[in-house]
Amino acid sequence: MSRLPRHPGALAPYACSDATSRGREHDEPPPTDRTAYQRDRDRIIHSTAFRRLEYKTQVFLNHEGDLFRTRLTHSLEVAQIARSIARSLGLNEDLTEALALAHDLGHTPFGHAGQDALGACMRRHAPQGGGFEHNLQSLRVVTTLEERYAAFNGLNLTFETREGILKHCSRRNAQRLGDVGQRFLTGGQPSLEAQVTNLADAIAYNNHDIDDGLRAGLIDLDELQTVPFFGGHLDAVRRAYPVVQGRRLVAETIRRMISALISDLVAETARRIAQHGVDCPDAVRAAPPLAAFSAPVQQQLQQLQHLLLHRLYRHPDVLRNTTKAQRLLTELFDAYAADPRLLPRAYQRDDAARQPRAIADYLAGMTDRYAIREHQRLFSMRDWPAY
Ligand code: MG
Repeated sequence: MSRLPRHPGALAPYACSDATSRGREHDEPPPTDRTAYQRDRDRIIHSTAFRRLEYKTQVFLNHEGDLFRTRLTHSLEVAQIARSIARSLGLNEDLTEALALAHDLGHTPFGHAGQDALGACMRRHAPQGGGFEHNLQSLRVVTTLEERYAAFNGLNLTFETREGILKHCSRRNAQRLGDVGQRFLTGGQPSLEAQVTNLADAIAYNNHDIDDGLRAGLIDLDELQTVPFFGGHLDAVRRAYPVVQGRRLVAETIRRMISALISDLVAETARRIAQHGVDCPDAVRAAPPLAAFSAPVQQQLQQLQHLLLHRLYRHPDVLRNTTKAQRLLTELFDAYAADPRLLPRAYQRDDAARQPRAIADYLAGMTDRYAIREHQRLFSMRDWPAY
């Protein structure tokens, strides 16, 4: 295990801090009773996009059961894991938490199915329009779409939070983004806080998708046991607690997996930080990726992801919902594009070339249930009288 600072507030030299921040898009007096990144986190929690995460699908549709993860509970789990890692490495916990809570703000309703549908619609209706990327949409939410402050659009977050939200980005889109897009053109890395949050996301979804997949009965323990990482921890639990079974057996196995992944990530990242002699946030940006799992754990994680991809994300029951959700969003997009007067006025554009992006923004902001209701309002005859 690492011998790095473990006290909250004891920042390592390579951690982001108020002192080294590149500041906000619009000048504001610095906060007096909290750090700059605490303010970012607070603004994210108060945003409307954050509240909508409660009714957006992670993998299982929001209405399928109360115990499945939603985008909101997923984001909270990512924040918990990311903060644990940040504290162990002496990173800025406030920035890490802000990034974790914001990382999925731009997600469409219905999970990845929604993103794919909006991408296809944008390519059809606006071939030069830049498509649809959920990372870019998360950035768009915090820089443009939130309407909460008198003096500016968006949340006016620090550069480090905006940069960290943008995990991936095409070169073409990066060119339009100014400072936060730079690293995609020059091949640089984001802060360690962003790198760690990215991997905390993977730790969270791999583990909670197993949990949700088992709960839904789409995968079973026998299948999962064939993956050494899961099988190893399951065997260890069974040896230590021979009578424990059912949900408790699953929960104890997953708890150990999360713990093992966090420990491995902290140890490997600390090793790389030392190896590259990284001693300030700018050195992090210039170095190769520093946050990483060790090679053996990375390989085990890939085996697990392979199983989840084939047995869970492509399970017929999941795919049935995926196609249904894609059809629903595509029909809504096409209806609005054919007659933009169907849209709320705030999303109607005089300039036809700007209309598809406004439709994508409107649809991406919807919760699952709002999109379903809107589709019924536009297409269902059920509330019409029967003659
Ligand atoms: Mg996520």
